[in-house]
Amino acid sequence: MVGAQTRTLCVYQCVGCREILGDSLTLTISDTENRRLALKRVSSVEISVQQVKIVKGGVEDGAAYNDLKCKRCSLNVGKMYLKLPTEVELLKGLYSLDLDAIQIYRLGDASREGGEGHLLDQDNMITALQMVVLALDKRISKLEGGSAPKKQKVGEKH
Ligand SMILES: [Zn+2]
Repeated sequence: MVGAQTRTLCVYQCVGCREILGDSLTLTISDTENRRLALKRVSSVEISVQQVKIVKGGVEDGAAYNDLKCKRCSLNVGKMYLKLPTEVELLKGLYSLDLDAIQIYRLGDASREGGEGHLLDQDNMITALQMVVLALDKRISKLEGGSAPKKQKVGEKH
């Protein structure tokens, strides 16, 4: 199907309230190993600056961060790192969303997995497009037809 090969755009939603937190247009790092996505920009996410937390143990030992909370339901959706060990410094300043706290909706999912209604819509759109093309084709034919007799007349003169 047309468009299947284009890059899939995703919308990230809070699992608690389905509020949209961000989208793949600002996705910078997709760290599935640690189940997180780092985004440049987010929406409806609050950084709880009152408390700086420190990671203990692991590769991020000593890293300082603030919790990221969903503005609507206050669910903890990830971290905003303030200070990081060099191995994971790339994450600094990014909104690191916890994959377990978000739902991912891929644009186009409805038309792929949806019922016939969606497919019909798509068919209708294709039909509509075909009609436009046909209409244009007719117009072009008319335009060409308008110039064709001239050519014929020229031909007749000879
Ligand atoms: Zn929420």
